[in-house]
Amino acid sequence: MSIKENLARILDALPKNVSLVAVSKTKNNEEIMEAYKGGQRIFGENKVQEMTQKWEELPKDIEWHMIGHVQRNKVKYMAPYVALIHGVDSLKLLIEINKQAQKVNTVIPCLLQLHIAEEASKFGLDENELKEILDYGDLDHVKISGLMGMATYTPDNKQIRKEFQKLKKNFDEVALKLPDANILSMGMSGDYKIAIEEGSTMVRIGSSIFGERNYT
Ligand SMILES: *Cc1c(COP(=O)(O)O)cnc(C)c1O
Repeated sequence: MSIKENLARILDALPKNVSLVAVSKTKNNEEIMEAYKGGQRIFGENKVQEMTQKWEELPKDIEWHMIGHVQRNKVKYMAPYVALIHGVDSLKLLIEINKQAQKVNTVIPCLLQLHIAEEASKFGLDENELKEILDYGDLDHVKISGLMGMATYTPDNKQIRKEFQKLKKNFDEVALKLPDANILSMGMSGDYKIAIEEGSTMVRIGSSIFGERNYT
């Protein structure tokens, strides 16, 4: 199946309140433009340099989302254009995003990444660190728009569901404090159907649209 057909099949099956981030990391401009022609406007990348190059070369009505782990010294390169940063996993990073956003006179929407997986390798805040950030108070140039998380990579659907439920519970608590925080970014190619059943409002899907990635 073509990229366009894959995209149409996924969009058809998404509930109206769930938005799609097409994860285009490692994919070239031609492949991204195929999805663009299919109507897709939100793309997700996990490397700042790769995203910035694509932003420069591709149509300006694309919304670029940073979905990967962010190094603080790279924030300045994406501050002028990034539409949403999904993986904010420390107060230090949030403060740096605020600083760089201020320099270019903008407000950058951010999601706080909660660690929900069993794997120690995945990034994210624990529940105490999440509270600490929420209690820190106002930063004028970032907007906390919700939460993001990644489930354990496992065939055990029960475990995946349990992890998504934990994320949803935290999301509901954050939304009480911050009424504008209305994005819950959870679900990838392998688990997005479970994520939607558990309350996701934004799924990040790469390989089911573009095919497997080749890392060279
Ligand atoms: C790569 C990636 C995805 C997409 O993964 P697929 O399994 O290809 O859909 C989603 N979220 C994050 C954070 C990623 O790094």
